[in-house]
Amino acid sequence: MAKASENLDSFRSEARSWLETNFPRSLVGRASEYMVVEGEVRIEGDALAWRQALASKGWGTPTWPREYGGGGLSQLEARVLQEEMSSVGAFNPIPLLAGMGVTMVGPTILEYGTEDQKQRHLPGIASGEIRWCLGYSEPNAGSDLASLQTRAEDKGDYWEINGQKVWTSGADISDWCGALVRTDSKVAKRDGISFVMLTMKQPGVRTRPIRLISGASPFCETYFDNARAEKTDLLGKLNDGWTVGKRLLQHERASQTGGNPAAGGRAESLQDMAKRYVGADEAGRLSDPDLRIRIANHLMSAKAHNLTLARIAAEARGKASVTAAASILKNSATNVAQTRSELTLEIMGHQGVGWEGEEFTGQEKETVKTWLFGKAMSIYGGSFEVQNNIISKNILGLPETTQKG
Ligand SMILES: Cc1cc2nc3c(=O)[nH]c(=O)nc-3n(C[C@H](O)[C@H](O)[C@H](O)COP(=O)(O)OP(=O)(O)OC[C@H]3O[C@@H](n4cnc5c(N)ncnc54)[C@H](O)[C@@H]3O)c2cc1C
Repeated sequence: MAKASENLDSFRSEARSWLETNFPRSLVGRASEYMVVEGEVRIEGDALAWRQALASKGWGTPTWPREYGGGGLSQLEARVLQEEMSSVGAFNPIPLLAGMGVTMVGPTILEYGTEDQKQRHLPGIASGEIRWCLGYSEPNAGSDLASLQTRAEDKGDYWEINGQKVWTSGADISDWCGALVRTDSKVAKRDGISFVMLTMKQPGVRTRPIRLISGASPFCETYFDNARAEKTDLLGKLNDGWTVGKRLLQHERASQTGGNPAAGGRAESLQDMAKRYVGADEAGRLSDPDLRIRIANHLMSAKAHNLTLARIAAEARGKASVTAAASILKNSATNVAQTRSELTLEIMGHQGVGWEGEEFTGQEKETVKTWLFGKAMSIYGGSFEVQNNIISKNILGLPETTQKG
């Protein structure tokens, strides 16, 4: 045990000195600049140098094997790296630049991919140079994903793909897509689906961005019109896409359970913000007792969520463990984040409904957008209700009552 912690201490020193040399201080506070949701993705100057430094060290995907562009670190070392990065205001832009690559497609390729697929696809994700999107949902297949109709026809040396996807995040700016397609329509719905990977840079793929209530266009309608996927880009076995696709969704949910804004960090705490807007009584407490109780309840939920995350990480003893429990954590993270947004708006009062104009601060305008976009949390990655179905069936062992087929 002593040896393990000594190793971790020496890794901490290594990480600290590497960051000292490689993280450009000019980037502190600028992580959101990598968060491109529409338009051209252009990373230059220090931002480019930082992406390249992380990529060549493999620390953009710290736990991936080195041979595929990762850092080969243990989960514990990756956590130490994260702590050291936070302490100097550094951040990892590679998951943002790779779209769905780092959190979803990459881990699924690591589990189901052939050696050739790992060699061809993982290094581009690990360096943040290749952005991926995910073609699952269709106009008539969201929660009931197994009803998807986009079909892939065997053309000998390639798959020809026709159909329409919807809500494809980042489709217009992505290089590659991981898509669920129907490869057999004569069997039960879930038994005729395959997972294919195809380049978005081809004439048979067309995207149409959808504008959201928050003003952004983070996702698209995606049309496949005789699009082509190579035979070597079938992930997993033919007609076993349901298994591969479900596994990817577990990785997606696991990535949506992490830190939450209520955890504090560098942002102003909710209680301080409340005192600033609503005022304090003579004892220095927030003057509105009802709001005080609701903020306290929220902070307890946030703390409980974070402790649960920490307990699960500790139980996994440093190994990556993505299970159906991700559904519990996704719903809990959603509750915490949405409650925080609601409380923030309420605290700000009239100032919390600003969209534009000089009478609102940047933070106030951002709050409205965060609140609106936060509504999506209980929909993407499988809706709140669908997670509850998974919990009831796969964790509690209750009988399936929905989505037969
Ligand atoms: C911001 C955002 C990004 C997204 N990105 C992507 C992406 O990149 N790629 C992609 O493929 N998809 C993406 N999606 C789509 C997302 O996966 C679907 O919206 C989601 O699965 C729900 O499907 P739906 O919209 O068709 O709603 P529906 O399935 O029509 O559901 C409507 C309502 O009915 C409820 N419901 C449905 N079935 C059941 C049931 N069996 N039991 C109880 N309640 C039920 C749902 O909970 C929901 O409230 C994204 C969505 C959002 C909001």
